Amino acid sequence: MFELLKTDSESKARLGRLTTPHGIVQTPVFMPVGTQASVKALDPRELRETGTQIILGNTYHLNIRPGIEIIRQAGGLHRFMNWDGPILTDSGGFQVFSLSKIRKIKPHGVEFRSHLDGSLLFLGPREAMEIQRALGSDIAMVFDDCPPHTSTARELHAAVERTIRWAGECRQQPRGVGQVVFGIVQGGANAALRESCAKALVALNFDGYAIGGVSVGEPEHEMMKAVEITEPFLPSNQPRYAMGLGTPAQMIELIARGIDMFDCVLPTRVARNGTAFTRKGTIIIKSAVYKADFSPIEQGCDCFACRHFTKAYLRHLLNVEEILALRMLSVHNTHMFLKVMEDTRNAIGSGNFGEFRREFIANYRPSRRVLLARAAVAER
Ligand SMILES: [Zn+2]
Repeated sequence: MFELLKTDSESKARLGRLTTPHGIVQTPVFMPVGTQASVKALDPRELRETGTQIILGNTYHLNIRPGIEIIRQAGGLHRFMNWDGPILTDSGGFQVFSLSKIRKIKPHGVEFRSHLDGSLLFLGPREAMEIQRALGSDIAMVFDDCPPHTSTARELHAAVERTIRWAGECRQQPRGVGQVVFGIVQGGANAALRESCAKALVALNFDGYAIGGVSVGEPEHEMMKAVEITEPFLPSNQPRYAMGLGTPAQMIELIARGIDMFDCVLPTRVARNGTAFTRKGTIIIKSAVYKADFSPIEQGCDCFACRHFTKAYLRHLLNVEEILALRMLSVHNTHMFLKVMEDTRNAIGSGNFGEFRREFIANYRPSRRVLLARAAVAER
């Protein structure tokens, strides 16, 4: 399922190939997030044009609306949303612990109130795997306990214990045809917990491993540390996925630390605030400095938005609240993330990753506003 093609000589960056029932994914890869069976503002043709290889769908949200029976009747998530490429589905663990009002954590899952109408629902390893089987995703995630970064050592310990036990229960469940399952390592910034969680999951022999609990509002250095203390315990011949991350600069730094897969709502979320990603950092298209700027969002970008429209025009559309502006910024931002990943793969392939990384990081100015947006979790 996963072939490790090359490892960088001066960092842990890897080039790989992931084979799924709906196609091949070249790694490192960024996965646009289609929480509600749609990558916000983008249709499947635009996803293809921006260079999307694989998208993310969500168990928690789709189970609440439209309900799994509708997706089953449609013939699965691929058919329902008319995306014929690979799909990875989140197990819903993250949302249960971050969005809903938890009623009770039970031995085999969580009883919670829907964030939508307050109805009483239950999600555990068995249910999460059954839903993902019905969705027909190519990659399913185990149901985990994802605690906030403010958790006490005792809470973290309990979350890791539960995560391991639930991963074992997920492992026992039947899978969809060709579906693979990834384990999720928890443990916060605690090295011993990360190690024991990773070792216990690897013993269960999953098809890939995710590092969870890394997009839960923690500061960046803590997020990097969580990855650094987990990665050495993950098998080198299987894919590694950092959940809910990150900005382009963060993804490059995480690739240098041995990560292959990413998902993040940032490109489409900030697009809706009129913010565009460039290789120098983010720019606010609504800003008055672009009033008469007839250049594209980013010089040299070959996305549809940059080939056809100027900043002055997009700024105007934002000011008069035309939907086209949000669509075009979503196209550009998604394309930008995917192009950075493509350039990263080329750099690893040609042995120039170190130079590429230094140059990218030197040019990219992180924005506090964007880092704060990353910390907000509600959409995912
Ligand atoms: Zn562009």
